[in-house]
Amino acid sequence: MTSLLEARQVSRVFGTGLLNKTGTLAVDGVSLVIKEDRPSITAIAGESGSGKTTLARLLLGMIQPTKGEILYKGRSLTSMDRQGREEFRRQVQAIFQDPYESYNPVYKVDQVLTLPLRKFRLTHSKEQTHQRMEESLRMAGLRPEETLGRYPHQLSGGQRQRIMVARALLLNPRIILADEPVSMVDASLRATILESLVKLKRDLGISLVYITHDLTTAYQVSQNIYILYRGSVAELGSVEEVIKHPRHPYTRLLVSSIPLPDPDIRWGGGSEMDTKSATGTAHVDDAKGCKFVSRCPFAMAECRHAPPPLYRTEDDRAVACYLYKDHPTVSGGEMAESFASA
Ligand code: SF4
Repeated sequence: MTSLLEARQVSRVFGTGLLNKTGTLAVDGVSLVIKEDRPSITAIAGESGSGKTTLARLLLGMIQPTKGEILYKGRSLTSMDRQGREEFRRQVQAIFQDPYESYNPVYKVDQVLTLPLRKFRLTHSKEQTHQRMEESLRMAGLRPEETLGRYPHQLSGGQRQRIMVARALLLNPRIILADEPVSMVDASLRATILESLVKLKRDLGISLVYITHDLTTAYQVSQNIYILYRGSVAELGSVEEVIKHPRHPYTRLLVSSIPLPDPDIRWGGGSEMDTKSATGTAHVDDAKGCKFVSRCPFAMAECRHAPPPLYRTEDDRAVACYLYKDHPTVSGGEMAESFASA
């Protein structure tokens, strides 16, 4: 089975230069595979500083990896010809957190939607363009008569976010990377927007990479999940298993801080670690041992000497933690491949 989109051991360092020789390691050896003929929803979860947005930008080809490579249909983005690059830019679309920022306030919705159609020369008449816009708006759960002809400020936050979905759909994408798509939207609208993303996979066969800090919505929409901590994969597996039975101490911390309807009760009976200090990016020179060691209540001497490899604890789960060293090790690439093919 061919891979549609693949991250192969990608790392990204920021801030190296004349004055700063070490830099910040935003993404550290992450592998991910999305298969061509198996639409899926994969969540990339972590807190701010975990590297998830940098990973999204790498997958979109917006920035280059420092190490490793991103491949689309088996071809590296860096060595793709113009035609391949154009196909990639059309078929891999993004939906960002703040739709307002993505709009030019002087453009009406119609212009927002016609621009990509023109750029990729996908329609050949005004009628075709209009028909395509209407179809995409409906697929995104909007009524064309309530949205076309309006300016962004005349729409609600939920409508603006759906227009971003419609804009992505115009180009018949194969994959959508949705980076915190509902974090700026009212809780009442969150479920309906997420449902429309799930429908894209179900009805149109579009794969989604869902980037979020929110494990509750990750659980609602995705099949597989990658938990990132300071740029590295701490745990990956089926979302059902990882959220219900987290293994990595960091995943346990995240899950324990998911609020239940009663704000006094937390999953896991309360946090055994300090959730407030959960963030912090890694520097290239401090990656000697486990990145979580300073906060881990289970830390052992070996945790300080070398970063833990991924241990495969179940067929569909791997954890980067020495607590699971009785299990066989597995590479991130093998694990990503096995998820994507399952
Ligand atoms: Fe904690 Fe050690 Fe596991 Fe890191 S490797 S999470 S420090 S037990």
